[in-house]
Amino acid sequence: MLTVCHLYPDLLNLYGDRGNVIAFLQRCRWRNIPVQLLEVNLGETVDFNQVDFLFLGGGSDREQNLISDDLGQRKVFLHQAIEDGLIILAICGGYQLLGQYYRTLENEVIPGLGLLDYYTVASTKRFIGNVAIELNLDNQILKVTGFENHAGKTHLGNIEPLGNLLSGYGNNGKDGTEGARYKNVFCSYLHGPLLPKNSVFTDHLIKLALCRRNMNKELISLNDEFEKDAHKLMLSRLKLSGGD
Ligand code: GLN
Repeated sequence: MLTVCHLYPDLLNLYGDRGNVIAFLQRCRWRNIPVQLLEVNLGETVDFNQVDFLFLGGGSDREQNLISDDLGQRKVFLHQAIEDGLIILAICGGYQLLGQYYRTLENEVIPGLGLLDYYTVASTKRFIGNVAIELNLDNQILKVTGFENHAGKTHLGNIEPLGNLLSGYGNNGKDGTEGARYKNVFCSYLHGPLLPKNSVFTDHLIKLALCRRNMNKELISLNDEFEKDAHKLMLSRLKLSGGD
């Protein structure tokens, strides 16, 4: 049985980011892979050793402030889980809080966990719009699409980006990077939600989770025509072509 944990589902769930959890669960269930969902809210405990896929969604500055202390109390356990290869997807606000800090427009510093080497500073210009990036999954170059809406500009330290921008602003609108990646932690500014719009990425995360539990990671193919058409349409709207 795979266990999916949605951390702070009532607070970090901007722009329907819950759809990432639904996509992971459903693409397992369509393949009869046993999977369960654990929703963990403020003050509730979770043993990350029992978790196979952890999701942190986006949130406004207010929600990020509300969860910061509670998330900070999970730092040691999350650090151990990350080093142990836990598969994590963190979107926008959730992404920002795994780094060193997020400084808001009001010059308030919301402390991050400092587990990943980057920091974020808000600016008056919000980055809003459709995004496309190119990333490498298992030596397969993949185009991934979504949309972004953030004031925070993220600056990477000694950590790889998730991908390189093909269209949009990405981490900071300057260095052409988007998101961050460390071991099995995938961070991105892409809402959409990301996973329903990019089924190859979803299946990659499912394979990682199965592999980590020594379960059969051969996934039967699903009929992804609808997802692929939507993906191609978005790439064409962004005047990009080809490829998944
Ligand atoms: N509050 C953060 C920002 O504005 C994150 C926003 C989000 O999660 N979409 O950058």
